[in-house]
Amino acid sequence: MEIAIIAHDGKKRQMIEFVLRNRAFLSSDAVTLIATGTTGTLMEQEGFKVLKMLSGPLGGDAQIASRVAEEKTQMVLFFKDPLGKHPHEPDINMLLRVTDVHNIPLATNLATAQLLLDAISNRS
Ligand code: PGA
Repeated sequence: MEIAIIAHDGKKRQMIEFVLRNRAFLSSDAVTLIATGTTGTLMEQEGFKVLKMLSGPLGGDAQIASRVAEEKTQMVLFFKDPLGKHPHEPDINMLLRVTDVHNIPLATNLATAQLLLDAISNRS
C-alpha cells in the first residue's frame, strides 16, 4: 500500500514523532512511503525509505494529487497547519478534492492519522 505523508512546517516535529511511533508498520514490506520534499528528507534522516516528490510549495502536493488520481497512492496523511499561510493553497485544496473524488482515506490531523494507521495495521 502506498501512503503519502505531508507535513507543513509548523507540524513537522509532530510528523516525525508520529512516524517514529509507527516505525514498525511504516517500515514494513506492506507499505511504500512517498512524501513532499522536505517532509521526505526529514523522514530519510530518521532512516525511512521514502519516494520524495518536490517540496510542497514547488508542486509536491500537486504531484501527490496526481498519484491519487491515478490510484497509485491509497492513503494520504497530511499534517496540516491550520494557523499558517501557504502560498500553495490551491494545490492543497486540489489534493483534498482529488482524495474525495477517488474515495481515498485522508487524515488532516494527528488524531485521524493515528486512527487510520491503527485501522489498516490491525487488518494486515
Ligand atoms: P515540504 O512540503 O514537505 O516540502 O515542506 C509540505 C507542504 O508545505 O505542502
